[in-house]
Amino acid sequence: MQIIIPIHGGPEDYVRDQAHRRVARPEVCPNCREPGQFDCHGYYDRYVSASKGRDSILISVRRFLCQLCRRTTSMLPDFAQPHRLVATDTVSQYLGGIRSGDGVATWEHLLESYEDRFEARLPETWHALSSAYSIRDLSNVAECMWTGACQYFGDARQFTAQFAHDLGMTVFGIYKCHRPMGNLQIHTPDSFPGVRDPPYFAGPHDNTR
Ligand SMILES: [Zn+2]
Repeated sequence: MQIIIPIHGGPEDYVRDQAHRRVARPEVCPNCREPGQFDCHGYYDRYVSASKGRDSILISVRRFLCQLCRRTTSMLPDFAQPHRLVATDTVSQYLGGIRSGDGVATWEHLLESYEDRFEARLPETWHALSSAYSIRDLSNVAECMWTGACQYFGDARQFTAQFAHDLGMTVFGIYKCHRPMGNLQIHTPDSFPGVRDPPYFAGPHDNTR
């Protein structure tokens, strides 16, 4: 499985600081749900777009192996989107309606295809968010829904991480790596057991807007 973990900064910081070497083990195995007993299990490499300019940056993603179920868990930094090259912050600008600026302009063609996919899945995403979370007045218009969900969870990174964790989804699709034991049927918005407010928030927040 994949867990999306909070990282300060972007891919440049992650690589410069060799942050992949300091990624902590999960507390609970996302596959078998047992308290973690993990062995380090190397890394896999993938690219993510740079914060500025045309470069793609190769990052190493930490993997752990559960001693109990013998399944691997990878720890994806939250500046990266699962299965997408363009970085989360740039994706967020584009889906929020921003059409200018360095990152958005550089990756416009890819971002257009992301937006197509986002819009094609909009009804399902809206249903999942509305059923599982207490987001007031969530718009079913793409741009507004994106902005509203990001506000609710804090930002685009936290939205992506929490949505994948709770429901095994992103706004672009459903992937086995976010489903325990690869089971696509386990999470549904209607059976989601729980947390109705995003646990990432340390303090009170206003989701009434
Ligand atoms: Zn396990």
